[in-house]
Amino acid sequence: MASKNKDIEVPENSNICIIGHEVIEKGYRVKDDRVLSLMRSAKQKLRMKLKNNRLYVCEHHREEYMKKRKGFERNLMMLAAMAAILFVVIFIVNVMSGDIWKILQSLLLGILIFLMVPIFLFFIYVPAIEEKMTHAREGKKR
Ligand SMILES: [Zn+2]
Repeated sequence: MASKNKDIEVPENSNICIIGHEVIEKGYRVKDDRVLSLMRSAKQKLRMKLKNNRLYVCEHHREEYMKKRKGFERNLMMLAAMAAILFVVIFIVNVMSGDIWKILQSLLLGILIFLMVPIFLFFIYVPAIEEKMTHAREGKKR
């Protein structure tokens, strides 16, 4: 993965391709969402520099991006499904035991499991991009 490389110095306030980390003139703008703003606030944890940079995917890296995005969507589905199944199994086993404390425990555990999902999401996140290509200069005033 490209982000495993050591920090690449990018100028602040520029347009960055999230796959190659290069400064670009035009590309597909990354849709800003809650996860991304969360990542911005935790930017020290990330090698990818989000600070004051507008995020894009360039034409050259688009195919690679699509693969990553698809993989991410698949992982997220799996993660959610696994969390749900795990919870249901634990819950059923504990309900069958007839022990009210065990049932309460499994409810707590269920909450814990579902809290873990966003944490995993944070590490595997690949943001969505806009369908149309934008010239980077147009996006400057925001
Ligand atoms: Zn690129």
